[in-house]
Amino acid sequence: MTKNAKLKGWRIRGLKELPFFEWPFCREHFRSYGGNEEGCGECPECGRFFSARNLGRVSPERPVTECASCGAEVPFTPENRAFGGDFYLRHECRNIVGVEYKEGVLNTPKVLEPDWNERAGQRAEKIGREEGRT
Ligand SMILES: [Zn+2]
Ligand SMILES: [Zn+2]
Repeated sequence: MTKNAKLKGWRIRGLKELPFFEWPFCREHFRSYGGNEEGCGECPECGRFFSARNLGRVSPERPVTECASCGAEVPFTPENRAFGGDFYLRHECRNIVGVEYKEGVLNTPKVLEPDWNERAGQRAEKIGREEGRT
């Protein structure tokens, strides 16, 4: 799946206006257009084809964050989801910036802190001396 994934999380979070395409008909917003050589792209929602000039341009505010590994800006948008959708990944440096949890997103190192969930320690399973060693 992923080699050398990092778990460094994010540094700062904020809102930023990001450019999106607005597809005709469905009015769905997507960051990439994925057009073919004739300039026609398929709506990811309904599968209809539209040429680039028929797509709207919108810039809604979206939550973005700064990757704690490389410092790049990472929007919390679908193209940065990974591993089945519960994780936000900065693809270029392989850092998992956040983990979706209930209605929000957790900064990845938080997930690994044993005291954020007091019962986590009780749930830890003994793996035994032999199993735990290489
Ligand atoms: Zn559509
Ligand atoms: Zn990064």
